[in-house]
Amino acid sequence: MSYKAPLRDMQFVLYEVLNGDKILPELPGCEDATREIMDAMLTEGAKLAENVLAPLNASGDREGCQYDTETHDVKTPDGFPDAYRQFAEAGWTALAGPVEYGGQGLPHTLNTLAEEMVCSANLSLGMYPGLTHGAVNALTSYGTDELKEKYLPKLISGEWTGTMCLTEPQCGTDLGLIRTKAEPQADASYAISGTKIWITGGEHDLADNIIHLVLAKLPDAPSGSKGISLFLVPKFLEDGSRNPAFCGGLEHKMGIKGSATCVMNFEEAKGWLIGEPHKGLQAMFVMMNSARLMVGLQGLGIAESAYQVSLEFAKERRQSRALSGPQEPDKPADSIMVHPDVRRMLLRQKATIEGSRALAYFTAMQLDIAHKAESAEEREQADDMVQLLTPIVKAFLTDEGFFCANDALQLMGGSGFTQDWPVEQFVRDSRITRIYEGTNGIQALDLVGRKLGHAGGRAVKRYFAMMDAYLKTDGGVPHSEELQAAVGRLQKATMWLMQNGMGDREQAASAATPYLRLFALTAVAYFWSRMAGVAQQQLNDGATETDLYKAKIETAAFYMQKILPQTLSLMAEIEAGKDSLMALTSEQF
Ligand SMILES: Cc1cc2nc3c(=O)[nH]c(=O)nc-3n(C[C@H](O)[C@H](O)[C@H](O)COP(=O)(O)OP(=O)(O)OC[C@H]3O[C@@H](n4cnc5c(N)ncnc54)[C@H](O)[C@@H]3O)c2cc1C
Repeated sequence: MSYKAPLRDMQFVLYEVLNGDKILPELPGCEDATREIMDAMLTEGAKLAENVLAPLNASGDREGCQYDTETHDVKTPDGFPDAYRQFAEAGWTALAGPVEYGGQGLPHTLNTLAEEMVCSANLSLGMYPGLTHGAVNALTSYGTDELKEKYLPKLISGEWTGTMCLTEPQCGTDLGLIRTKAEPQADASYAISGTKIWITGGEHDLADNIIHLVLAKLPDAPSGSKGISLFLVPKFLEDGSRNPAFCGGLEHKMGIKGSATCVMNFEEAKGWLIGEPHKGLQAMFVMMNSARLMVGLQGLGIAESAYQVSLEFAKERRQSRALSGPQEPDKPADSIMVHPDVRRMLLRQKATIEGSRALAYFTAMQLDIAHKAESAEEREQADDMVQLLTPIVKAFLTDEGFFCANDALQLMGGSGFTQDWPVEQFVRDSRITRIYEGTNGIQALDLVGRKLGHAGGRAVKRYFAMMDAYLKTDGGVPHSEELQAAVGRLQKATMWLMQNGMGDREQAASAATPYLRLFALTAVAYFWSRMAGVAQQQLNDGATETDLYKAKIETAAFYMQKILPQTLSLMAEIEAGKDSLMALTSEQF
């Protein structure tokens, strides 16, 4: 079976729940984002994802990328260059890019919806333009006018792609250990030397040029992460000559085999500084924040695809009879849809995916408001929300992307484990999303270590004020009791972190992962309450799509009764503190 973009559900979230068709066109510069235009773009995006990208997903996985040891070139799977060309020519790389450099200036939210479809259809292929998007953001925020004029138009049009070169053999999470060097040259450029590993899209045959954004250290750099600078290093220089930034080989990976993961050797390659010396991490964070949201969408996208396959399978596979008695007595057995345990796996996926979709789109809309709203107050408020929710979207959606793909595989029994079905690939492909762009453990540390304290705790206070205001809505809200209890738990956990984690950072770090999950489950509960409220209102108003709205109401109930209670055990885990975690010596393991 093939992927079908869940357009109706995307519209439900964007328009009916989040009022995107009213809020987005009111943002300065986003006047074109009317419902009509957004619908037309989503329909076109769905066609491209379903008909061009998805058909190459399995073949790309089987074939993988090939490295030529003599030329250092990389060949992507058959069909990838042509599909990428169609993607770029249709304007998808330019969607949210700045208008002055050839972008369409449309809201980031629309890009987020497009990204979900791309990641559902073909994550490996989607990574090439995905990384470019991050490079565009960093260059737009920190590049000189000259660099912007030279590089942004072709990155935005998709003629060129971008990379993000942080990782080195001795340095992954801890970027302070970077050894790549940047020597100033007489012509104001820098000679970049060093080896980067696991660089996505470091070399490939999709585009005419590749623009690497590379973290390196200047000769006078202070030690640690405060001494890192960011450089732009093109594969081909302006005069067409080859810059010595070569791929030294490809990784052999568990998944995303169509995405070229490269060792990159920089041999005094010519580069230019982006932003201020020693302040590269600041610029890189712009790139990483947008990339983190994108990786969250990768988790969501894969979960959606896996769900679609397992649902179709469950409807067709016949085994045993319903416990309440045969449902289709004329057939040799009932469809497995009748079994409570199969429904548990389906509903776990459905409730998580649809709730996470609302959380992700909400965060994307906050990003647009943070960038474009007229009033500084509104921008600040939205930025607080983005800061707080980014690690949650990244970690929760990718954890759940993998868990949902696993549920889909389990539901399908032995069939799920075979290559006759695409789900085993989804399980393999989704696994990396929990690791790159900062492991999910690091996202949790970011949440408790940085984001909770952001601006004196302003962001989290605003978040709780939003919950409080919602819970006090006139006339009540669906599942207010369960939501109130979960919000109360989250407040208690936040207080616990303040009391125990400020003086003892090991306590905060010990609680970080369960805290992030508690936060995420509660946030998704908030969106399920809102979605149930909207659905009920639509039914009261006589909407004809009764199945859609009734399913929303029932799925909200499932989420509240069967998923949200996990917050109870997470709370217990947090309050148990660090002692049992830290008790064993290394030898005692
Ligand atoms: C397919 C693929 C594509 C990638 N693409 C890119 C790319 O395009 N550009 C790029 O620069 N990099 C890329 N990476 C690298 C990726 O971002 C890193 O693998 C990731 O950030 C983790 O670093 P590491 O693997 O070195 O793990 P390590 O940093 O060695 O961490 C190992 C373990 O220790 C934990 N840990 C480390 N430090 C701490 C701490 N302070 N507190 C708690 N736990 C900690 C981690 O969570 C992890 O579980 C890619 C990797 C892969 C596999």
